Amino acid sequence: MRDRTYTADAKPGETVTVAGWVHETRDLGGIAFLILRDTTGKIQVKFEKDEMDDDLVETGLGVHRESVIAVTGDVAEEPRAPTGVEITPESLDVIAEADAQLPLDPSGKVDAELSTRLDNRTLDLRKEEVKAIFEIRAEVLNAVRNKFRELTATEINTPKIVATGTEGGTELFPITYFGKEAFMNQSPQLFKQLMVGSGLERVFEIGPIFRAEEHNTPRHLNEATSIDFESAFIDHTEAMDVCEAVVKAAYEAVEENCQEQLEALDLADEFEAPEGDFPRLTYEEAIQRINATGKLDEQLVWGDDLPTEGEKALGEDVGEHYFITDWPSEIKPFYIKDNDDDETLSTGFDMMHPTMELVSGGQREHRYDNLITGFEQQGLDPDAFEYYTKMFKYGMPPHAGFGLGGERLIMTMLGLGNIREAVLFPRDRQRLSP
Ligand code: ATP
Ligand code: MG
Repeated sequence: MRDRTYTADAKPGETVTVAGWVHETRDLGGIAFLILRDTTGKIQVKFEKDEMDDDLVETGLGVHRESVIAVTGDVAEEPRAPTGVEITPESLDVIAEADAQLPLDPSGKVDAELSTRLDNRTLDLRKEEVKAIFEIRAEVLNAVRNKFRELTATEINTPKIVATGTEGGTELFPITYFGKEAFMNQSPQLFKQLMVGSGLERVFEIGPIFRAEEHNTPRHLNEATSIDFESAFIDHTEAMDVCEAVVKAAYEAVEENCQEQLEALDLADEFEAPEGDFPRLTYEEAIQRINATGKLDEQLVWGDDLPTEGEKALGEDVGEHYFITDWPSEIKPFYIKDNDDDETLSTGFDMMHPTMELVSGGQREHRYDNLITGFEQQGLDPDAFEYYTKMFKYGMPPHAGFGLGGERLIMTMLGLGNIREAVLFPRDRQRLSP
């Protein structure tokens, strides 16, 4: 529609055509109102029954809620209208009539279960506060991309169909690839590492990862968006600096460019971009602090992975984003380099929001012999990864990087109760459609 005006741009004194959805109609007798909604907001359409064509009034007030209509008319100031202006229609076209019964109420007056919302995402995203999440998501991805580019990283795209997994077999989704077994990739880990040895040196990728996690939790998806970074000639502490800068850039962009969306989500007052350096705790300090909270039934000992309740207790204690460094080598993946001074310690790190893990990263093992040993220790067959390991024989620089969960970043930023709210069409144990 070339001559369409967004409701937000309809100015008093103009004659415009606006198009969108029938949000609601209110018939007060001699006068009636229809609220038309589009992506920019809402506008009131006024019907003065005695002064208007009967057909026009009948069409306007008879149309079902959520139908798509176009209205042409004069815009006038009207302080009592929700947006301060209203249109007196000269013509009104019903472009796509909606059923009288809707599976979900987009006006939000009737609450819907998350599963109903996800089954009817189109209608769900007609709600301002739901649309706001995805506008913020777009802002976050843009900010992250810009920050990486500013840091001279090149954006890459790596295969999602692979012959072997990265982190062992259990979380892999098998598929059939021309009669052969293949898998959906769990992580771009190996490919991004291969690129630090290429002419690119420093890369990032924003793309899907697939994990056949058995558990159905509020913070796990079976298809998630991973924000990955990897760079030659940096160590794990420099990777942590990048990680921190990227997360801060995302918050700052949302603070600067998404006030309307934050208001729709009722977060405008409390939203704050993190300031100051994220504390860096060692794993040892982390388990001591968790034990000191007394919130766990059993005390953690060296070598334990941090249980969810442990992460929660520590997060409450720290109260802001933080890193956990110096993990025991044995609980970090084979491609993470051990600490040069102490082999029992890994250069792996996690970056945490007070409520959950957002990032895992580290310096990588770039020495061929150590890498092969690492594969064997992890019970993986190095031959199956030859495409990867052999490149370490042809000049692979020291390097480090991280993977940041895109949905977890948005979920924690907006305080969403369930990670599925940050995905248009989430994939989980029960959900394969839509
Ligand atoms: P967790 O222990 O919380 O399940 P992880 O340690 O298995 O996560 P990593 O392999 O370290 O996950 O992946 C890096 C990041 O990707 C995680 O910190 C998280 O933000 C995100 N991530 C990993 N798995 C999922 C998933 N199933 N759903 C959503 N995000 C995920
Ligand atoms: Mg992790």
